[in-house]
Amino acid sequence: MTFSISSPKKMRVRAVGLLSGGLDSILACRLILEQGIEVFALNFVSPFCTCTKKGCRHEARKAADLLGVPLKVIAKGADYIQLIKKPRHGYGSGMNPCIDCRVFTFTHARYYMEELSADFVFTGEVLGERPMSQHLQALKLIEQDSGLSGRVLRPLSAKLLEPTIPETRGLVDREKLLTIQGRSRKPQMALAARFGIKDYPCPAGGCLLTDKNFAARLRDAFAHGEDSLRDIQFLKVGRHFRLGSGKKVVVGRDERENRVLNNLATASDTLIQPVTIPGPTVIIVQGGTTEDIEIASGLCARYSDGKNLPSIQVQCAGSILDARPLSEETINTLRIGE
Ligand code: SF4
Repeated sequence: MTFSISSPKKMRVRAVGLLSGGLDSILACRLILEQGIEVFALNFVSPFCTCTKKGCRHEARKAADLLGVPLKVIAKGADYIQLIKKPRHGYGSGMNPCIDCRVFTFTHARYYMEELSADFVFTGEVLGERPMSQHLQALKLIEQDSGLSGRVLRPLSAKLLEPTIPETRGLVDREKLLTIQGRSRKPQMALAARFGIKDYPCPAGGCLLTDKNFAARLRDAFAHGEDSLRDIQFLKVGRHFRLGSGKKVVVGRDERENRVLNNLATASDTLIQPVTIPGPTVIIVQGGTTEDIEIASGLCARYSDGKNLPSIQVQCAGSILDARPLSEETINTLRIGE
């Protein structure tokens, strides 16, 4: 395995830091900056992130500004979705391939390290904090698979781990690194107070891939060849149903979701909406035979304010149709997930 050699002109030690914007990554960055090391932050945005309404890019930007370091953001796109379909190291409790996911981010961190002629990569990982990807064996495996063996420093837990190359070469003072481990957040809170850091987002971040209901939807989508970024956007809104024809129907649950579905719809989708009675926006994704439209209209009627009426009027592709609410029994046979 080869690593880039630091440029002779480079005066300071350089490191690439994975910066989610969460407290652990901010603290790790502060610890490295305190040693006079030049830090380049790297952040990943994922279509599965639930961090905040504004997203993890926003939190990372805030954190980078707070720390005074440059930030590079990489979007996890189609290649990441392919990885989720067939992870080498399997899934966690849902469809979360945490080890492969970490290998993905670490590999990109290595590319950036090589591009900058930086000396190592560091993260805010804490030994034993997360069950799948942060136990000792997993940490080693992730480093190996991403081509970073010995080059990943975890300042918050470093003194519990074998010394890394930057430590043994004297680029980093190991004595100033920490021994935090486990799921308690108290040591991190105390350190944050010491650094005067008060405003930080959700400590553990959020990932839809760990959510059981979302995982069921994603499994179903993959099984039907739906793996584009647009397909993933659909999975995040509404109630989901799979018709006998194989087409998917998404039903908005409130005004916000109705708006999102309207925005996601393209000319190849079929849009159904109630005419006068309040109710959901319904989409048949990429299709709409007469039979599909009849069933999707029944779903629209069932989730409208006219669910107890014999029928309601819906509009679809410029036509007004009579739609009879589907029975609960029928709905249960079509529903994806819970
Ligand atoms: S929880 Fe999600 S984002 Fe975090 S490592 Fe696992 S798959 Fe990746």
